[in-house]
Parts: sequence; C-alpha cells; structure tokens
Amino acid sequence: MRLLILIGFFYLCYRAVKSFSMQQYKQSERMERTSRHEIDDVMIKDPYCEVYFPQRTGIKAIINGKEFFFCSKECRDKFLANKGDEAK
Ligand SMILES: [Zn+2]
Repeated sequence: MRLLILIGFFYLCYRAVKSFSMQQYKQSERMERTSRHEIDDVMIKDPYCEVYFPQRTGIKAIINGKEFFFCSKECRDKFLANKGDEAK
C-alpha cells in the first residue's frame, strides 16, 4: 500500500516536471519567434514625413551614394524634389 502511494507521488512529480519543461520550451520558442520577427521588421524613419515603418515594406532610394527608405513612392519623390530645390 505504501509502495502505491510512492509510485503515485513519483508519477505526480514526473508530470509536474514534464509540464514545467514543456512551458519552458514553449516560452523559449515564443521568444525566438519574436526576436526573429523583430529582425524581419526593422523599424526605420521616413526622412520626409518622419513616420516609422518596417524597412522591408519601404521604398529604397539611393541619394548621393546614401541609402534612404521611404514609406511610399510619393514621399520618395517629394524628398527628391526637396533635395533638388536645396541644390539650387
Ligand atoms: Zn512617408
């Protein structure tokens, strides 16, 4: 009878440890996913309208050898137009 209680106790311990390690696993997986997501979505600022947006959705333009990213083509065109005005 005592052995049965012992077995039951060990079984409960086993289950507790198992569910705990499962939680840990899920947590680390979630953290990995969020960090990967952050790498995918680098937030950068549109130099024209000063709005933050994910870099991969931005419009890339190279101006005077420098890379610029804009939230839209309109912003890129307006920024380029402004640059042209400054040069004059
Ligand atoms: Zn913009």
